Amino acid sequence: MSAAISGSSELEKFRSEARAWLEANAPAAVRGVLSSIEGQGNWGGRRPTFDPPEMQTWMERMAARGWTAPTWPTEYGGGGLSPEQAKVLAQEMAALKLPPPLMGFGLEMIGPTLLNFGTEEQKQQHLTAITSGRIRWCQGYSEPDSGSDLASLQTKAVRDGDHYIVNGRKVWTSYGDQADWIFALVRTDPSAKKQEGITFLLIDMETPGVSVRPIRLISGKSPFCETIFDDVRVPVGNVIGKVNGGWTVAKALLGYERSMIADAFGASERGAKGKKKATGSGSRLVQLARQYGFGEQGELDDAVLRDEIAQLEMDERAFHLTVQRSRDAAKAGHRPGPESSLFKVYATELNKDRYELSVRIAGAQGLGWEGPGYDDDEITLTRQWLRSRGNSIEGGTSEVQLNIIAKRVLGLPD
Ligand SMILES: Cc1cc2nc3c(=O)[nH]c(=O)nc-3n(C[C@H](O)[C@H](O)[C@H](O)COP(=O)(O)OP(=O)(O)OC[C@H]3O[C@@H](n4cnc5c(N)ncnc54)[C@H](O)[C@@H]3O)c2cc1C
Repeated sequence: MSAAISGSSELEKFRSEARAWLEANAPAAVRGVLSSIEGQGNWGGRRPTFDPPEMQTWMERMAARGWTAPTWPTEYGGGGLSPEQAKVLAQEMAALKLPPPLMGFGLEMIGPTLLNFGTEEQKQQHLTAITSGRIRWCQGYSEPDSGSDLASLQTKAVRDGDHYIVNGRKVWTSYGDQADWIFALVRTDPSAKKQEGITFLLIDMETPGVSVRPIRLISGKSPFCETIFDDVRVPVGNVIGKVNGGWTVAKALLGYERSMIADAFGASERGAKGKKKATGSGSRLVQLARQYGFGEQGELDDAVLRDEIAQLEMDERAFHLTVQRSRDAAKAGHRPGPESSLFKVYATELNKDRYELSVRIAGAQGLGWEGPGYDDDEITLTRQWLRSRGNSIEGGTSEVQLNIIAKRVLGLPD
């Protein structure tokens, strides 16, 4: 443990400095702005959208301080904070209702992967572009015939001098139409055993031959795309790790992805909307129940529903504490192991339960799609409920996570 964080007095000093800095530097307009893995908030990139516009100032000030990536080393645009200091910073931001200044797969997935596997040149090229919000990333893993069995992927990269020529098709590329770079898995040795012929490659989406087609979902949105590579020339310097050694890098990144998903969907602040008409205190589920007329005084007269809400909230709380304990136990630079599968399964199943319950509480008003009769929150609730069905698929399905837990956590035979 570094001297800076060895005592609680040093940590408390950091807390008051951080609070003073946040109060002086966070624009009032960004307080309470929502951010989520589903695209809300600031994701940066070459074509950023800042909503409200003050998000730009917020991002720039936090990036200059290194606090878009608080625990990354300062030489790569991070804040160099210890995990304890980062936790204090997050607590102070939450107390002031400040959103993350920047979100995305750069900070959550490829950044940590580059810190572990990148060369110095690759770190210099990509990490500050991420922390400053200049470049937005997407993930090119899945293919039409390779999802759970990812190692069967067929997108090919053939060496041609100082370049690889990439041909193939990726699918379900989240925000592929808004991203600037993609981290992709490509097959570089078709004759090797399937896991052994894969290479991890970074590709600029503006390279000739890359095209992207949005796919419309059941929720009505199109957050993901089909990404096609047609004779795309990629410098060999863009290989991360070893040629044909991409599977190791890919698995490490999946650990970061599953932790990100668990964080995003396990949080109890999520859940039903209904902010406009909600009354009184209590969680969002309780507020939603009150909104839909359970009891004049706001009490819930349906005992079964009361029980279900209480159970879900206890599950959320227990999960939150477990994640917190695991995070506290993790050392700085800790690479998530198979326990990230455990958290991923639990958080995403919990999120699905949360939306099922929200829709049941709202009754017929929880099934609005468009038109009069439903307000914006109700329409959003229906769409979020439908979107939540994908939670136990993205980042590897629940069934696949259970296989990993059985094998690598519990040590059960194949
Ligand atoms: C919202 C969302 C966002 C996504 N974003 C991205 C992205 O940005 N980039 C990207 O590359 N991919 C992305 N994906 C794709 C995702 O990783 C795949 O959908 C997932 O890995 C499952 O693959 P599949 O859809 O081909 O299903 P399949 O692999 O065909 O699985 C079908 C069913 O069979 C089950 N199954 C398969 N194998 C086994 C097994 N061995 N044991 C038990 N059951 C099994 C699965 O659990 C599932 O129920 C996203 C998916 C979603 C839903």
